[in-house]
Amino acid sequence: MTSSSLAIRIASLPKAELHLHLEGSIQPATVCALAARHGILIAEEEVRRRYAYRGFPEFIEAFKWVTSFLREPQDYALIAHDLAEHLLTQGVVYAEVTLSVGVMLLRRQLPEANFEALLRATEPFESRGLRFNWIFDAARQFGPEAALAVVDAARQCASKSIVAFGIGGDELSVPTKEFRPVYDCAAEIGLHRLIHAGEIGGPEKIREGIELLGAERIGHGIASINDPELMDLLAEREIPLEICPGSNLKTGALARQLRCADPRIEEHPLPEFLRHGIPVVLSTDDPAMFHTTLCEEYANAARMGLREEELIRVVEMGFERAFLPAGGRHGA
Ligand SMILES: [Zn+2]
Repeated sequence: MTSSSLAIRIASLPKAELHLHLEGSIQPATVCALAARHGILIAEEEVRRRYAYRGFPEFIEAFKWVTSFLREPQDYALIAHDLAEHLLTQGVVYAEVTLSVGVMLLRRQLPEANFEALLRATEPFESRGLRFNWIFDAARQFGPEAALAVVDAARQCASKSIVAFGIGGDELSVPTKEFRPVYDCAAEIGLHRLIHAGEIGGPEKIREGIELLGAERIGHGIASINDPELMDLLAEREIPLEICPGSNLKTGALARQLRCADPRIEEHPLPEFLRHGIPVVLSTDDPAMFHTTLCEEYANAARMGLREEELIRVVEMGFERAFLPAGGRHGA
């Protein structure tokens, strides 16, 4: 099969997206429209400039900046609608979308009101074959108390579509063990547990996420390439890595983990993980902020040397590793 016919085949398959931040999906024109709603004039050129990073801290700054224009529930409705339309172009039928509820709380917003607006914006897409579930996310650098408030917000929203709790943000900030009571509370209210780990941090962050917090999937986890025993553990316990190659390249995470100044996407360790028996799901992370799409990430995986049957296996694992009830493989 030629690379273009393979791309067409992958594009036509129903797919799941499991590591996708709503706030990282806002295209430059929409950032300008949001800012204008609040009386601020920004040129698309400025958004594009801010959507280019020389390292992880610059990316976090840009993420903070873009979320400063999300001020009202209707702002969330707008970006959720745009994201849904975008996902349909990628053949996505199921998405677990991460919401930065920690940021909403920091800005003294009501997560319930934002969440209700999101549900209203996305529910009509079910009839078009696209189903959403949600992950409530805290920022590690805000600390355990703020993270607990995110779990509380999930409890108050009381929606079956909130399937998991996770932490993201600056992996090198607050120690993992401080979040243990927070994850216990999340588990008590029936949420699955996720964590961003081993993106810019070392393999020990991944181990801590699993051993101390009971993490069921690891966001990124590419640091495990430097720890063969951890690779064995991930394979034995079937703990999936949510791999976002374009993101890893653009934030400098790939360079950091490979200890190489300017790596190419072909050097990403995804094929090693897969061939080691570690479940792998492929995602975009922040598609607008990393100028990528899910189909582009499959093209990246093909550039790394994944064969057709391996690419199709990765598509399947997107559904197998989703937090869907058995038999809930909607639309696929
Ligand atoms: Zn992420």
